Amino acid sequence: MPDDVTKPSVPSQDLDVIARVFDDASVIIHSVDGIISHWTHGSERLYGWNRAEAVGKVVHKLLRTKFPRAIDDIRKEVYAGRTWEGDIVHHHKSGRPMTIATRWVIFDAASATPVVIQTNTDVTETRKVQEDLAGREAHLTSILATVPDSMVVIDETGNVISFSSAAEKLFGYSSREVIGRNVRMLMPSPYREEHDRYLAEYVRTGKAKIIGFGRVVKGRKKDGAIFPIELSVGETQWDDSRIFTGFIRDLTSRQRIEDELRQAQKMEAVGQLTGGLAHDFNNLLTVISGNLEMLEGLLHDSRQLELLHEAMEATDDGAKLTGQLLAFGRRQPLKPESIDVGSLVSGFSELLRRSLGEAVELRTTIKGSNHIALVDKTLLQNALLNLALNARDAMPAGGSLTLDISRVSLDRDYAQMYPELLPGDYVLISVTDTGKGMSEEVKARAFEPFFTTKGVGAGTGLGLSMVYGFVKQIGGHIQLYSEEGKGTTIRIYLPSVAEVGSESRRGAIKALSRGTERILVVEDDDRVRRVVVARLTNAGYCVFEASDAAGALEMLSSGEPIDLLFTDIIMPGGMTGDELARSSLLLRPGLKVLYTSGYTEPSIANRAIPTVNWLRKPYTAHELEIRLRQLLD
Ligand code: ADP
Ligand code: MG
Repeated sequence: MPDDVTKPSVPSQDLDVIARVFDDASVIIHSVDGIISHWTHGSERLYGWNRAEAVGKVVHKLLRTKFPRAIDDIRKEVYAGRTWEGDIVHHHKSGRPMTIATRWVIFDAASATPVVIQTNTDVTETRKVQEDLAGREAHLTSILATVPDSMVVIDETGNVISFSSAAEKLFGYSSREVIGRNVRMLMPSPYREEHDRYLAEYVRTGKAKIIGFGRVVKGRKKDGAIFPIELSVGETQWDDSRIFTGFIRDLTSRQRIEDELRQAQKMEAVGQLTGGLAHDFNNLLTVISGNLEMLEGLLHDSRQLELLHEAMEATDDGAKLTGQLLAFGRRQPLKPESIDVGSLVSGFSELLRRSLGEAVELRTTIKGSNHIALVDKTLLQNALLNLALNARDAMPAGGSLTLDISRVSLDRDYAQMYPELLPGDYVLISVTDTGKGMSEEVKARAFEPFFTTKGVGAGTGLGLSMVYGFVKQIGGHIQLYSEEGKGTTIRIYLPSVAEVGSESRRGAIKALSRGTERILVVEDDDRVRRVVVARLTNAGYCVFEASDAAGALEMLSSGEPIDLLFTDIIMPGGMTGDELARSSLLLRPGLKVLYTSGYTEPSIANRAIPTVNWLRKPYTAHELEIRLRQLLD
């Protein structure tokens, strides 16, 4: 029992005094079992029952009370001498429910007739407003948690009062680190310095410089990184002061895409122009050099011949130059083949090593398998050589050059960041040096034709532009990463050729099924021929070989019994595989023919070759075996 309650016993006229003193408030005095003894004017007003109606009634019946807890619990608490406070529901005489904030105390607990005095306040409206407010706040919070934009609220002096979780993610600060500090900390110079002035001026003059939608400015992350943002600021008057709400959208990726697009468009335009020019120039050069050649036979004077040769050399140089420009303008003739980029690079690394010199260490790593790309082999080698030479120039004191080959799948998300890139499978060659790297300005222009930072005679500025044009022409993609003082990585994405079915890959590991027939292999590439001959010989076949059509025909006319002719379609020496086959069939009717080609869709003299008669390079031993047995059995 609280000390301030008078003890021991209090006569009932004291209760009359209390009720009279608080007559204007809603006070109800009742016995412990609820029988009402005092009912003030305030209660009459609040509940609609007058005193005569209320006194003698049981209070919770009269008012149809709804308690938040079991009534016995509440009573226990009150009898123990504690005050009980809480929200309950009472009903007005008219039946209207009311939310009541009530306060109960026990009076004269030690006596034989203790009473409960309760005071009641109608809080129906307040609670409703509070609930609305809480609901609205929950709604607002859920919106703020969902929008991708960040929100920062500041007061008139620029101090942060609220920092959304999206803002935490974007800036890298926790809200604890930001709240209470000046919003300047999220801005780089010169915005940082200007902000206070803007804010003070706006508050003073009302001239809105900082209010509005979608201004593109810069933000600063915790780690110091500066990035583009779109800022919209709203203002709210609150009490006597103002608060400003900033919505911040990260523009990093949009800006990058725009930059990429602009760059791609520029390259496209320059490429069109250069390609067109080079094409016309090439024609002129052809006429000039043709005429010079004819003149050569007519001139006998050595001085005149000397002048003529000088002119001829110049046309040769001119032809080389236009060749490079055609490459950039994506107009060079291409001979795409399915090429295993891994083996091409390993086969080529000796030459690269020699071009790089002693001071540069060359490393080649080939990750995974199936690095088959549809690409022009000579031009790819040329591109790699160009990159290697650039790397060498960037590392005059030595360093290392790393070539990584892997197969990558670029998904739609990734492709969206680069306007010219299509999602799909690529063979990725990345060429990394530890050289001096490039500044932002050099990076922005490195692919442009004739852009060079090297002295006169040292650089033509055509290396990277050729590589760029070539990669784009074959449907690939090129990226440049470079950091000054650290090094450069150039990534080339070559369109990959779908993997031969996994079944045949597994088959490739199996030994070739054996045969005893006599096969004539015609293939101009010595290395390819050696591999085929070895494969077939190991499988038991009796193998004859020729490096061109003439050799093959000679062998056939010598009377050697041959069951099958296995020939490349495109061969040097004037006779194609198809012509060879026709001549051979005249000599040996009934001879089986199997063609091979690096082209995707071979057609000979405008007719398609039946699938059973041709094999696309590169082929596995298993595929060769199947074709041979299909034809011979
Ligand atoms: P060039 O080599 O004739 O100057 P490129 O088109 O090959 O022309 O290269 C253009 C410019 O790009 C070079 O002059 C150089 O400034 C820069 N560059 C190219 N590759 C690298 C690299 N690996 N490291 C640093 N800078 C490079
Ligand atoms: Mg170069």
